[in-house]
Parts: sequence; structure tokens; C-alpha cells
Amino acid sequence: MNTPYDIAVVGAGPAGATTAGILARKGFKTALIDRRSKIGVPIHCGELLPTISELYDIFPRSKRLQHLGNIPKIFVTNKTTRTQLISPQGHVVEFKFGTNIIDRTKYDQYLANQAFDAGCEIYLKSTVISRTTSNHLELRSKNGPTQIDAKIVVGADGPNSLISKTLGNSYTSPDRNLSPAINFIMSGVECDDNVVQMFFGKNIAPGGYTWIIPKGDSMANVGFGIRRCISNPETSLLNYLKHFIAKNKIAAPMLKRAKVESRVGAIIPVAGPVPITSSDNAILVGDAAGHVMASNGGGIPTALAGGSIAGHVIAAHLHRQVPLNAYDRIWKYEFGKELNTALSTLRIADSVMTSDSLTHVCMRLAGKQFLEPLIRCRLPAPVDFVSKTFVRAFNATVN
Ligand SMILES: Cc1cc2nc3c(=O)[nH]c(=O)nc-3n(C[C@H](O)[C@H](O)[C@H](O)COP(=O)(O)OP(=O)(O)OC[C@H]3O[C@@H](n4cnc5c(N)ncnc54)[C@H](O)[C@@H]3O)c2cc1C
Repeated sequence: MNTPYDIAVVGAGPAGATTAGILARKGFKTALIDRRSKIGVPIHCGELLPTISELYDIFPRSKRLQHLGNIPKIFVTNKTTRTQLISPQGHVVEFKFGTNIIDRTKYDQYLANQAFDAGCEIYLKSTVISRTTSNHLELRSKNGPTQIDAKIVVGADGPNSLISKTLGNSYTSPDRNLSPAINFIMSGVECDDNVVQMFFGKNIAPGGYTWIIPKGDSMANVGFGIRRCISNPETSLLNYLKHFIAKNKIAAPMLKRAKVESRVGAIIPVAGPVPITSSDNAILVGDAAGHVMASNGGGIPTALAGGSIAGHVIAAHLHRQVPLNAYDRIWKYEFGKELNTALSTLRIADSVMTSDSLTHVCMRLAGKQFLEPLIRCRLPAPVDFVSKTFVRAFNATVN
């Protein structure tokens, strides 16, 4: 007889660990399964989380983020107050934006430990290799093949979610646009610890951007996400980043004495939210649900918020037969609009920023007024934009 669970959560990232923690605290028999041998290792992340007030500004309808985004201080390695968007020719657009740079490995472990302390059983080094429609899971694990049955399965298994594939086409993004990403953790970086920098350009990070995120103590995450449909197929991913580190006019002087301490490659799902994220016995959360801001690749806040919504809806379902599709309704209300706006922004950028010179001109013309709202998953007021762009273009012609 297999061990029966109320809930089996596949994937112990922030989304899955949040869901598992809520359900275990409510007394449900919960399993949290991850293929890694150590939670959060290696970390695939720039580790940037907007502050509570920024989260409120970005997702004003998600009140739960006021609580979930309040990261205990011991996990915060640095705080930044400004963001710079930098064009291929080095034009800098700067605005205030508060972030906490967190130690994601420790934070992911903390979330999973909270679930464990509440009674959740954790299966590490265990890869889910199949799921039947009745939630029978086959695992390949350190102790050989294992089987688990559960009333509800939560797919928190990241951008290449196996659980979403077992649910069918409507549960995967129609135009799954995965962005390969690389992150170097570097020491000896001579950067301003107050400033996050994002560099744009077809020769820098085609279809994405390169980041320098200061972790404090001369450490920084230096990485990028690109899109293969836009990049030069003959250039290796690593070469884009190495070229940037060695040659970028602004970055190279900051990185000339820096050393790569560790590196990871991973995927960011930037195709927008998956159309349907619940069935009668399964739910998708976090990257598996496409819950990433497509325009900047950030997915921690929506992983935490979606994980929390899933936990509460599953509890209500098991206690009071509330249908699981309440989950879809709630996340769409709390952050669906913002994720769709971020996707529109990415599509506009794809069509406009087709070369480095065009990207540079667009960024100069657009300036802070246009670019800052885009980073905050908002479209700028069109009238404002059109009129100001017209005035700028007019002045440029006259001068
Ligand atoms: C290079 C990079 C930099 C990023 N930087 C930022 C940033 O600075 N800020 C930000 O907000 N977001 C960032 N993101 C995005 C962010 O990391 C993700 O959105 C977030 O981790 C999503 O959390 P999750 O719990 O859904 O998935 P994940 O954190 O990916 O966790 C999924 C888990 O599922 C496990 N798993 C997968 N398949 C199976 C299986 N079959 N069986 C068992 N276990 C399985 C994996 O081992 C993993 O632990 C970045 C992403 C990348 C790749």
C-alpha cells in the first residue's frame, strides 16, 4: 500500500514550500518533493526582491504580499534604492526603486524548514517521473523507485513543469517562450551597492537584459536572460556574458578585478501566465504556472503569492468542497493584470528594439517617464507619452 497524502507538492522552491507550509500548518498530511539533494542549491536567481512598498505599488490588489514579501532581516544581504536602465551606447535612465537582495538559498531552506516543522514530510533527491489522472506519482529517488498517492497534487516544479504536461495542453503556455539565463556570483566587484543596473541591447542580451545586482561586500550577481528566437544562433550564451564583462563601457571597469565564484544556467519562463492552472485534483504554482513578470524575469513575489493562494484554496477545498478553480480566479485578480501587462511590454520591446542603435534611440526618447512604469508592470499614460515624445522629437529637430 502506497503512503496516501492529502497533498503532494512537487518542487520545493518558494512557490511549493509556501503552499506546503500553509497546508501542513492546517494539519493536512503533506509531502514536499524535490529532485535536489539540498534545497536551494545551486540557486538559479539574481536574488532581487522589491521592498514591501514597491510590491504594493506593483501589485496593489495582492494584500498578502505585504506579509509574504516581508523577508526576515537575516536573509537580506543588501538593500538598493535605485535602478539604472542602460542603453547599448551607455545612456543611463535612473529612477528610485527599493529592493532587498536576499540570500535565496537560505530563504528557500527557511521556507521548507517551516513546512517541515509543521509536520510536512520532505522527500529530497526524489524526481517525480510520472503522474496519473488519479494523482499516483512515480518517483525516482535515492532509495530506488517510490510511489506516492495524493488527493491533490501541486505542480511547483518550475519552468519545465512535468505536472503541467500531465494535465494537458491548456495547462501549458500556448507560446511557451523560455528564456535561457546564466548567473555568475562574482566577488571583487567595484559597484555602487545602492544601485541595480540593467543593460539592454541586441549584442548584450538579445530579447532580454544583463543585470548587475550588488549583494553587498563587493559581491554581485552578474547575469542575463536572453531569448533564443532573437539571439545569434552561432554565439554561445556564455560568450554574450563574457563579452559583456570584458568589453561593456560601463560594466567592464567595475568588473575588471572581479572573480567568478560560481555560475549557474537555468530557464526563465517569459511566455506569460498559463491559461488554466487548476483541474479537479491539481494546481500549478510559480514558474510552473508561468507566474513571472515577462518584462523583467522576476518571479519570486508571484511564486510566494500564488503559493499562498493555492494553500488556502486547497484547504478550503478539502474542508468545504470549495472548487479548486477559485485559485485561478484569485491569482488573476491579485496579479493577473500585471503579468499580462509585462507580457505586452516584452512584445512591444521585441518589435521596437530590433537593433542596438534603435534600442538606444528608443531608450533615450522614452526616458524615465516611459521606462519606469514598464519596470513596474504598468503601461505609461499614453496621452502623456505621446505628447512628451512629440515635444522631445520636435525640440530635437529644432535644435
Ligand atoms: C538566472 C535567474 C535569475 C533570476 N533572478 C530573479 C530575481 O532576481 N528576482 C526574481 O524575483 N526572480 C528571479 N528569477 C526567477 C525566480 O527565480 C523564479 O521565478 C522562482 O524561483 C520561481 O519559484 P518556483 O518555486 O516556482 O520554482 P523554482 O524555484 O524553480 O523551484 C522549482 C523546484 O522544482 C524542482 N523540480 C523540478 N522538476 C521536478 C521533478 N520532476 N521532481 C521533483 N522536483 C522537481 C526543482 O529542483 C526546484 O527546486 C530568476 C531566474 C533565473 C533562472
